[in-house]
Amino acid sequence: MKQEQNPNEPVERGRTIREDIESTLRHGPLTAAELSAAIGVPERDLPEHLSHLELSLRGRSERLLVLPARCVRCGFVFETRTRHKKPSRCPRCKSERIEPPRYSLPPQS
Ligand SMILES: [Zn+2]
Repeated sequence: MKQEQNPNEPVERGRTIREDIESTLRHGPLTAAELSAAIGVPERDLPEHLSHLELSLRGRSERLLVLPARCVRCGFVFETRTRHKKPSRCPRCKSERIEPPRYSLPPQS
């Protein structure tokens, strides 16, 4: 008798999403919106996945590369501590035209 694997097992699915994110980011840089469209995960779930991905990357001496969000109007660069969330407004010129942060991973050697 052979046991079938359950494809809907939640822990297994969580791991797969992060693997999808990882392989997609190897071809980055992508914004959260682009990444969510590419892997079919809601954008609001990405910050958590990215945080977990960073932890597992750290264990392999790798790093998530983040191009910080930037104001299109005045060029203000947002601090990296807000990097997993898209800022809504520039603190300097109050413009709402914000270029979202982009994520990527270096190609695997
Ligand atoms: Zn600005």
